Amino acid sequence: MRKVNRLDVQIPESLDGKESKGARETTDALAHFKNKKNKSVEFSFEVYKKKDIKLALEILFEGKCAYCESSYRGTSKLHVEHFRPKAEIKNSTYSKDGRPGYYWLGAVWENLLPSCQNCNQETYQIIYGQPYSILTGKGNCFPLQRKVRGEFKPGVDKRERPLLIDPTVDDPNQYLEFTEDGLVYSVKDKNGNPNKRGEATIQIFGLLREELVIERRSVATALRTRIINIREYERRLHEDPHNAYHEHDLNRELDELVGLIDSSREFYGMIVQLLTKHNFL
Ligand SMILES: [Zn+2]
Repeated sequence: MRKVNRLDVQIPESLDGKESKGARETTDALAHFKNKKNKSVEFSFEVYKKKDIKLALEILFEGKCAYCESSYRGTSKLHVEHFRPKAEIKNSTYSKDGRPGYYWLGAVWENLLPSCQNCNQETYQIIYGQPYSILTGKGNCFPLQRKVRGEFKPGVDKRERPLLIDPTVDDPNQYLEFTEDGLVYSVKDKNGNPNKRGEATIQIFGLLREELVIERRSVATALRTRIINIREYERRLHEDPHNAYHEHDLNRELDELVGLIDSSREFYGMIVQLLTKHNFL
């Protein structure tokens, strides 16, 4: 996961302005749920599926899942994810879970993120180092950092503090630490305890699912090999400063490393953390 600036792309036309399709759908949703009898009646959200929204999310996140940074191109389709669930809430911190969800945010640009199927849909996954499968995937989960007083109604989201990390709002580096073996941990707080936001994010999105760890590990291993080679060629050049072969080898490895510093690469958040740790950034 890495921080992304939503202002890097224009708001998709379907969601831009009071006359947009999204604004009209929000008005309809507000009218629908104003009637208390409709609280458990499904409302059909359609605008978020529009092509221009998918395209904007794809450009913003460079074809990767907002949460695990896997590329979904060629493997599975993009899921447009509502950070705050639109129709139903599970694991919330409100007194009652269930319908409706944050229906007033079903067609709001700031609430939409691109996700892969594994991060988005609840599925049993093999978790790295665990002997059994665990249910992961966000589904309709939306836990908060603390309870919010008062009624659940439009505008309440302004007072909440989500437990999950939103990469367009939060800096994931403050909460998640990637290691050279492709694992991810919750950054420890000043008391030495893993921070709760990192923990919830890792658990709910399944960021330690085995297949994902294996993918991250192969990227981290390639990076480490480059770094070891660079240090070795630097050492040789230091001992023999005019050796053109060593200089050539060092430059080649540095070029390869620079090629990895590309935000469209899978697991770029991890790449940046590891390069920073080795003083390359
Ligand atoms: Zn994902």
